Amino acid sequence: MAYSFRGSWNWRDDQRKPRDFAVTDQAYPARPPIDPIAGSNRLTGLPTRLEFATRLQCAIQQANDHGAPSSLLLINLQGRQEIVARHGAKMGDRALREIARRLEGMLRKNDMLARLGEDDFAVIADGQAEPEAHRDAANRMAARMVQTICQPIPANDCELQFGANIGIALCRPGIAGVSDLLQMAAGTMQQTKNRPARLSLGELSRQAALTVEEALEHDVLRGLAAGEILPFYQPVIDLATNRICGFEALARWQHPVRGFVPPDEFVPALERIGRISALTETMLTQVCRDANAWPSYARIAINVSASELSDPLLPRRLLQIAEREGMAPARLEFEITETALVHDIPAAQASLETFRQAGILSSLDDFGTGYASLGQLRQLKFDRLKIDQSFIRGMLENGECDKIVDAILGLARSLNLQVVAEGIETQAAAASLVARGCEFGQGYYYSKAVTAQAAGAMLKTGLRGQIAA
Ligand code: C2E
Ligand code: MG
Ligand code: MG
Repeated sequence: MAYSFRGSWNWRDDQRKPRDFAVTDQAYPARPPIDPIAGSNRLTGLPTRLEFATRLQCAIQQANDHGAPSSLLLINLQGRQEIVARHGAKMGDRALREIARRLEGMLRKNDMLARLGEDDFAVIADGQAEPEAHRDAANRMAARMVQTICQPIPANDCELQFGANIGIALCRPGIAGVSDLLQMAAGTMQQTKNRPARLSLGELSRQAALTVEEALEHDVLRGLAAGEILPFYQPVIDLATNRICGFEALARWQHPVRGFVPPDEFVPALERIGRISALTETMLTQVCRDANAWPSYARIAINVSASELSDPLLPRRLLQIAEREGMAPARLEFEITETALVHDIPAAQASLETFRQAGILSSLDDFGTGYASLGQLRQLKFDRLKIDQSFIRGMLENGECDKIVDAILGLARSLNLQVVAEGIETQAAAASLVARGCEFGQGYYYSKAVTAQAAGAMLKTGLRGQIAA
């Protein structure tokens, strides 16, 4: 993520007496150039560009491997050329050294400052784990740096003053490389330069959040196209017989840099950009390929976003995939999350009806946590309710959860719906649900979601080798 900070600047030459710090015109070495290759900068004594890039690469690695965040601040000085024009190159260099000294004085133990170009400095600063705190700390550092840079520098008989624009990029897991991060900071600094007024901190935070979302949206589409997102399978157990009767397919993104990225992170990104159906189609295709190797009694549930149900072409597309892959629709189930099931009831009704006629079951997922009204439950004619895991996990300790589970089971019975309890983590929870007559269950007590290969093996050997499938 990247954003920028702009400081006002001007250049003054107001003939005042020097104050506590003075830039004088005494013997002064010839102006050292910035070596364009190594970036060596003898003028300020700061690390070279090469050292800086190496350190930045380390920071990116640390963020990706260990989640250790940091910030990159690109600082563009303004006013140097005017100072040089009026006072000469020596004075310009002395003033620049003073800026470097001031910025160095603001660094903490592990921070690094370098001069990357004539007017460009950069800082790598340690970040904070919590994204909001990280952003705020970087904002504050940038604000302090702008203030410090803008402090007039007393010279012989005048004051010199620089201004600065700062572009900030937050280095968090998922950043691909040094040039990406530099690009992010430079790009937003450029935007700021074109703006007339200084940004407020609130706007900076919003911009940063937006940039992060955009980066994720771009990356998840790339990941989908690259085949990095695949189904894992969590067994669904017939509680009366204690046998696996199928699986829920849960999307797993095996990111080349970040490792496993959970669906809660990338599913909302795909929904935001209206590309969630690309995930559903990818998942369905792979589920068909995996499940075709399994016994036909194993039913596979796939999560479908409620927003997709209003697309009149969805049923045809999904049924075509099943047909192309040679999968019997009766082995499929679509789970619709309750949270968004509100908008286009007639369209959702039509989609679910087409699936029903093809033999595909439909379930209302996470029941009890969202907005589905009892009216919608009836109108959409679901086959199954999935009790949200928060109620199941709290059932044995919390009287309210216990009553809610009983109420959902009673409601389902009266509406002739099957029930799947999610989030069964203990043997006691499993036993309690069996006693209450709940038909199906899934949860870590049985198994987490596993690879297709492991799921196939489970069907042969049973869970923990105990439950014959
Ligand atoms: P969900 O459909 O309600 O899936 C159940 C979630 O609970 C899964 O998290 C599962 O790993 C987790 N879970 C299962 N048993 C237990 C348990 O005993 N204890 C606890 N604490 N958790 C348990 P996961 O895989 O992170 O998925 C989160 C959500 O992301 C899913 O909730 C679903 O809404 C969404 N999702 C996953 N895959 C897809 C997909 O392919 N498409 C869409 N649209 N959404 C998906
Ligand atoms: Mg689900
Ligand atoms: Mg659920």
